[in-house]
Amino acid sequence: MWYINIDSFKEANGYTIDGIWYPRVTSIVSIKAKPALYMFYAGLPDYKTGEAIKSKSAEEGTLLHETVEAILRKEPIVIPDQVKPAVNAFMDFYNNNELIAHKIEERVISKKHHFAGTMDVLAELNGVLGVLDIKTSMAIYRDYSMQTSAYIEALTEDKTLPPLTRWILRLDQSKRCLKCPATLRDKGGREKIRGEKGQCQHEWGPMKGEVEIKELNTFDSDIKAFLACKSLWEWENEYWLKKIK
Ligand SMILES: [Zn+2]
Repeated sequence: MWYINIDSFKEANGYTIDGIWYPRVTSIVSIKAKPALYMFYAGLPDYKTGEAIKSKSAEEGTLLHETVEAILRKEPIVIPDQVKPAVNAFMDFYNNNELIAHKIEERVISKKHHFAGTMDVLAELNGVLGVLDIKTSMAIYRDYSMQTSAYIEALTEDKTLPPLTRWILRLDQSKRCLKCPATLRDKGGREKIRGEKGQCQHEWGPMKGEVEIKELNTFDSDIKAFLACKSLWEWENEYWLKKIK
């Protein structure tokens, strides 16, 4: 990454809280290589197409986050058409579980390890307290466990909160073929077919929402991996970090 000055580095990679700058959790975890991302770019005509898909897909993800968070805040909402199936899937989940949001989009700080982040939801799910992270991806990737372990560390290191669990709540939407097991997903304006076997003139059914919840229970190894990322991230950005200290 290239930055024109220290302020642009600080802005892009962290938060200034009470006059102290902290690196952001998502910037730190971005140092880890993501081989799947190379495969994604390799399947596209050019780099620009990839960036366009990523930005449109991020926009849809933000829209879904905002809608779900408004539901959790019990605010009146108009569900945007683009994300309606996924929101409906979430509503089913919400109506069938006891989900109470205590904090939403809250800044958390680790003074011990010097980093900060914004967690999605501090929630009580069926009587258990934990951090709920909402993802709008095709699957639950292992990398999410590093990011969420950092939030847990920040929330619990001063011992004012009891031990917390973590969940990834994945929301997505896709169409199923009526004649074969294939599914079609439209993400960032790009249609992607998965699970194709043999020849089929697909006939797509309606767009349907999906909801998946996964509890993560590997905190010790996840936070170790996160802190290792942080060391690597600091090494990579040594030039800028020296100017801050
Ligand atoms: Zn088919």
